[in-house]
Amino acid sequence: MFRSIKDLYRLENDYLAPFAVHAECGGKRRFPEKEHPFRTAFQRDRDRILHSKAFRRLEYKTQVFLSGTGDHLRNRLTHTIEVAAITRTIARALRLNEDLAEAIALAHDLGHTPYGHAGERALHELMADQGGFDHNLQALRIVDFLEIKYPDYDGINLTWEVRCGLMKHREDGPELDGVKLPPQCSLEAQAADLADDLTYYGHDADDGLDCGLLNSKQMEELEIWREALETARKKDPSVSGPRLEAYAIRCLIDNMVGNAIRTSAEMLQAYNPSSPEDVLYLDRPLITFSEEYTRKTQELKAFLYKNLYFGEALKGLNEMSHVRLSYLYRKIMEHPELMGCSAEKRIATSGICRAAADYVAGMTDRFASKEYERLRNMEE
Ligand code: MG
Repeated sequence: MFRSIKDLYRLENDYLAPFAVHAECGGKRRFPEKEHPFRTAFQRDRDRILHSKAFRRLEYKTQVFLSGTGDHLRNRLTHTIEVAAITRTIARALRLNEDLAEAIALAHDLGHTPYGHAGERALHELMADQGGFDHNLQALRIVDFLEIKYPDYDGINLTWEVRCGLMKHREDGPELDGVKLPPQCSLEAQAADLADDLTYYGHDADDGLDCGLLNSKQMEELEIWREALETARKKDPSVSGPRLEAYAIRCLIDNMVGNAIRTSAEMLQAYNPSSPEDVLYLDRPLITFSEEYTRKTQELKAFLYKNLYFGEALKGLNEMSHVRLSYLYRKIMEHPELMGCSAEKRIATSGICRAAADYVAGMTDRFASKEYERLRNMEE
């Protein structure tokens, strides 16, 4: 006898906190569907995301380093898997809905352009008079319209809760399906958001050290790194060199996750929400680092921006990405037939600019580079 959906609801009732989103009480979709016999709505969403083309393309998209430049470096797929794992750890520790939090984490970077942030910036500039380009909103466009899988509608028809979780920026009071969203996201979305930040702080420092763009000595200007080294040396004072650095990265991530869980547990106790709705109109998120750790992680973030993302070594890469994406976008605006027919069809509903942006944003680094070379060669 298999575990039925009713059993799953009962299990959720037993182990989830009252402020967690319960699958039984949510899971509304744009196109209503019958309950699945043995998966909750959020478990189905996670599977739909995993089986999407956009998810598979993450493997060939830049996280920080251009896709394919190093066998050990992260790409957007490995980043996403790490975010999902840390999101689940935080959600489980706080008795939140792990399936919902994981689905949001797995989808959170689907909307990224090729060539990482340089690519996004280029596309945002090119789309300036069309409302710009934002990878969070693009993730929503992908799951709502661009993935084609079902016979009777476009998109993969995810639940309201996952779609809301993808709309990160709340200051300007965005709307979803004509409904103005509250200032805060669900705790599950907050967990995925914080996990995203701390994951990339940790693994970008790791990748930076691994490929020699950062060195541990230089990182010692950061309190959070000195702390991580101290934790690592406590474990084994004789360890040094790359082994010490690798273990210190592990300690850095563990320290950040530990701080996030402990602080969030204190916040939940202090605010004492009795339902998932109770957190939506608070003046702050409850899944958070302590004030001290917020400061320390901000220092690390600023350090990574200065020395890694926009440091001298990646400058050429950033410029190249800009040139290539601008070229591809303009070329497609001139020759929309380059997109192929399913993308070209979207011109009728979305306009040429948005259809071209959807097409360019969906490219992997690999495809964008090949297409750039091919079109340039044709010109010569
Ligand atoms: Mg991310």
